[in-house]
Amino acid sequence: MNLVDSHCHLDDKQFEEDREAVIERAQAAGVERFLAIGTGDGPPDLEAAIRLADRYPFIYATVGVHPNDVAKATDETFDRLKDLLSHSKTLALGEIGLDYHWDSPPDMQRPAFIRQLEMAQSARKPIVIHTRDAWSDTIQILRDNYRGGGIFHCFTSGPAEAKEALDLGFHLSFGGVLTFPKAEQVREAARMVPLDRLLVETDAPYLAPAPHRGKRNEPAFVLDTTRKLAEIRGMEPTELAAATTRNFERLCLRYTG
Ligand SMILES: [Zn+2]
Ligand SMILES: [Zn+2]
Repeated sequence: MNLVDSHCHLDDKQFEEDREAVIERAQAAGVERFLAIGTGDGPPDLEAAIRLADRYPFIYATVGVHPNDVAKATDETFDRLKDLLSHSKTLALGEIGLDYHWDSPPDMQRPAFIRQLEMAQSARKPIVIHTRDAWSDTIQILRDNYRGGGIFHCFTSGPAEAKEALDLGFHLSFGGVLTFPKAEQVREAARMVPLDRLLVETDAPYLAPAPHRGKRNEPAFVLDTTRKLAEIRGMEPTELAAATTRNFERLCLRYTG
């Protein structure tokens, strides 16, 4: 098995005590690379993932201002982001997007999202999108402001939304929710995504897949989601792992193969 966890918060405090062991367990499960999400506790610290990527050759980083942290961002934040985007281990800008579930003001979220879309586009880096209770605004902003690649992370909508994201050229990344009994719509979406647009992730430490549901999530559990996704699509897990890894390389590492 050659897996990539396309979205994990390895910097999270929940991993402070045993991060080495967490990484080793993931490697034993077949996870060869990690995309560490750099949003951390929000600005002014933008380097949560870069610190890890600098230490481990197999960990890559994103940088970005999460929609729930936009109130902490200043012009200086965005200047600094631009610099960090050119770091050799920074593969993408994210997670960025819209989240209307919590109390972060939508009127601040939208301009910050657009500003970061423009930044990603000029840096020619893909984006990692977080969207929660804000589907139509997210799609509209992308349609109007972005021409480039990216990932809808932790995709938890149905086939109609999947089609909208695919039509814009995006990859869809599935996580633990795929394994939840009530997530039939998500599984239906996962069935229809072309094989070359699929990714797998944990979003660790959040949303652990069955049979670990309710516990702290960790990158090793991406194997459980991969198995479930393979089952849904009638494939061998190794075959699915190889495809999602190829997709990650093509999108984020710009391999031509
Ligand atoms: Zn997210
Ligand atoms: Zn996340």
